[in-house]
Amino acid sequence: MTAHRVKGLTWELTEAGVVGVTISWADNNGIPRSRTVPVAALPQVAETGVGVTTLFAVFDSSDVITFAHEGLATPSGDVRLLPVLDGIVRLAGQPALAWAPGKIVTADGDPWPYDQRGVLARQVESLAAEGLTALVGYELEFAVYRDDPDHPDELVPALSGPAYSPHALVPIDGFVKDVLHDFAANGLELGQLHAEYGPAQVELSLAASDPLTAADRQLLARQTLRAAASRHGLRLSFAPLPALTAAGNGWHVHTSLWREGRNLLAGAAGSPGPEGAAYIAGLLRDLPAVAAVTAPSIGSLARLRPGYFAGAFAFWGVENREAPLRFVPGSALLGADHANVELKTSDASANPYLALAVLLAAGAAGVAEGLALPPAVQSDPGTWTADERGAQDIYGLPATPAEQEAALTGNPRIARVLGDDLLGAFLAVRRSDAAAAEGRPVDEILAGLRWRY
Ligand code: GLU
Ligand code: MG
Repeated sequence: MTAHRVKGLTWELTEAGVVGVTISWADNNGIPRSRTVPVAALPQVAETGVGVTTLFAVFDSSDVITFAHEGLATPSGDVRLLPVLDGIVRLAGQPALAWAPGKIVTADGDPWPYDQRGVLARQVESLAAEGLTALVGYELEFAVYRDDPDHPDELVPALSGPAYSPHALVPIDGFVKDVLHDFAANGLELGQLHAEYGPAQVELSLAASDPLTAADRQLLARQTLRAAASRHGLRLSFAPLPALTAAGNGWHVHTSLWREGRNLLAGAAGSPGPEGAAYIAGLLRDLPAVAAVTAPSIGSLARLRPGYFAGAFAFWGVENREAPLRFVPGSALLGADHANVELKTSDASANPYLALAVLLAAGAAGVAEGLALPPAVQSDPGTWTADERGAQDIYGLPATPAEQEAALTGNPRIARVLGDDLLGAFLAVRRSDAAAAEGRPVDEILAGLRWRY
């Protein structure tokens, strides 16, 4: 954006009553962090950014800073947070503020290896070098509780079923109305919204866009939802598992891969087609390492129970809701280009930029190598014996932080996507979380993560 255009934008925002711009990014725990600057400072901040500590790369899920990663082992260092002006919006629910996704560069303005948005930008470029583009859409599940300041630890669901019933939404009607309004005003294209399976649970879907925009919007959606909830005395949990008795919150990612305007997943007769099949095969091959990034937290592991549509075993299926990789074919009604593949092993504790980067890298590697896809599984392998699963090469995804780390470090194809520096910081953060969780009851850990995302 030219300096002239930024000045114009600043003027427009000021005229609209905006006094500040919140620049937001997500850390290695998927937790949004931010800086807010006066609107008048926008032209300057767009050029030189705002100073932030390098240590945000080694914050763990409880805001503890780990100094265990060699590259960031001291309190010294400062980098610059820049607003991505293409993504700036005035927040309908916080009208005195505008919001922009942020990217972080070094003090000299060079790429900073710990900048997660930069990792995804590079991945998108490397797809482009292969003549490929991707479309990404999200389903966001979350729990809605009454916010009672006198009893902050009491979980009172704001809706209580029946699942998928319009009646379930009546007690949160004002919130639903504001969500529909504010999403449209903030440029978030909402597919649909419904009362989900669990008590307190709501789901909405976001329309597909290019990967960077999709990750930016996933963060904007959270800000928009929280602001709407707070106006109605509600508190939202985006955590993968808000409590042991709650339903898991999946943030399912739908992707399709395109070459020269052609959706590679839209093959003949509802099949994924040869290159689309290779894309799914790539995702399947690297799923343990990918899941260590797309569902990386202790809460993610607690959510990943067989039989809960969360994708606990590594396999793919056609419209199989238990599969971590659910192929959604096109149809005569929806058109062939509706075809996409959903990753269920994905939640709000993932950094959305890193998650999409590893996912696309895994799939694109499958395409580049022309990987063969095993047959689809249409039932739930969680109900089979271990021998039956073994016979079809179906295994459980990593179930502990140590297994996740081994999956990631043992897979150079995926580890390389993060790069050595960021991988080191990411693993240090995971270890810090794991050490803090050691020996504590799961419900206590989940309670600590409940409001973090
Ligand atoms: N709530 C489930 C999860 O943990 C998903 C349910 C669904 O398929 O919509 O991902
Ligand atoms: Mg759902």
